[in-house]
Amino acid sequence: MLCDLADQIGEGNAVQFYKGCKLAVEQIGELAELGSGKAEYVWQSSLYYASTEQDVPKLKKEYELLNRHLFEVEYLEPEQISARFPFHKPGAIVTHGDASVNPFRFVHGLIDAAVNRFELAVYEQTDLVNHSSEPNSGAHILQTSAGHEVLAKHVIYAVGYEPEELRGKLVKSVMNRTYALVTNPQPELYEAFSPYLFWETARPYFYMRFSEDKRIIAGGGDEQTKELLTSESQLKKEAAKVLSCIQALFPSIEASIDYAWHATFALSCDGLPFIGADPNWSGVYYCLGYGGNGTVYSMMGAHILHHLITGRDHLLASIVALDRPSLLNV
Ligand SMILES: Cc1cc2nc3c(=O)[nH]c(=O)nc-3n(C[C@H](O)[C@H](O)[C@H](O)COP(=O)(O)OP(=O)(O)OC[C@H]3O[C@@H](n4cnc5c(N)ncnc54)[C@H](O)[C@@H]3O)c2cc1C
Repeated sequence: MLCDLADQIGEGNAVQFYKGCKLAVEQIGELAELGSGKAEYVWQSSLYYASTEQDVPKLKKEYELLNRHLFEVEYLEPEQISARFPFHKPGAIVTHGDASVNPFRFVHGLIDAAVNRFELAVYEQTDLVNHSSEPNSGAHILQTSAGHEVLAKHVIYAVGYEPEELRGKLVKSVMNRTYALVTNPQPELYEAFSPYLFWETARPYFYMRFSEDKRIIAGGGDEQTKELLTSESQLKKEAAKVLSCIQALFPSIEASIDYAWHATFALSCDGLPFIGADPNWSGVYYCLGYGGNGTVYSMMGAHILHHLITGRDHLLASIVALDRPSLLNV
């Protein structure tokens, strides 16, 4: 929440960061067009509802802060929620200018565009197993598991989570196991509610949205472990809990689970991404999104790193830098 981030890094910085996220959502839309426009990028509004009465004061505080800084936001009282949706909740905010995308199509569209426009060469299934640099020239030498070498002036680690070189030293991440599912198509619910992304104030939280083929994609049930499940029956049990959250919101629904999976979901210790230069190794950078907004943060990271590598500062660089002072307070 913006109000939590404001407590952590100050209101001015928190608002800058939120504006940066909003811009990144727009930039993802522009990139989605590059990849022949098949990435199913759709503008959305988010319904963020209070899971319990106790969460209402904080939700109101969040609304006031967002509104004061001119983010497009509405506050819904219980009767307004019941008028728009088939469920009752003690309060909610609706934010506008969010978006959904099909990540698989998006990524493949981008890779195709980069191959066609810039003659990018893609080497799949290629592990980088060693990284060193020449003391005199500063050139970086990366070795692959197949025994090849890559020479580079700059290296960006965009490996999802903290790479071996830094492991545990900076990010101090919390690893969770999370569950997600896709239902059979729900054309009636899709007609009525597909402009919304849904999530809640409870932690762990439940979230859902619609896919372009009118299915519900939902997730939640996070548990604090990075161990993966060992059996299908365990996954079915956890997915059934997520399905029951959908049924609690939409009691008339007759939905079945067509696909279910689980994943490791990592949060950094201060909830922010890690984007920037390695403080101790010239020419080395990191773009580690972390958390539930990792895609958005990665887009922001692309611009920040482009600025840094071309010798310019970026407004958000100090907020997400690897040696940021706010980390010391965590
Ligand atoms: C269930 C779930 C829901 C999410 N929902 C959202 C959401 O709604 N919005 C949002 O913005 N974000 C969301 N996220 C977060 C988002 O998915 C991630 O932050 C994002 O996908 C990370 O992308 P990435 O390219 O940085 O890393 P990754 O997609 O993890 O890719 C890193 C790549 O680096 C490769 N790699 C690692 N080490 C090496 C090595 N040594 N050599 C070669 N290759 C290597 C890996 O194989 C991998 O292919 C969600 C995440 C999860 C798990």
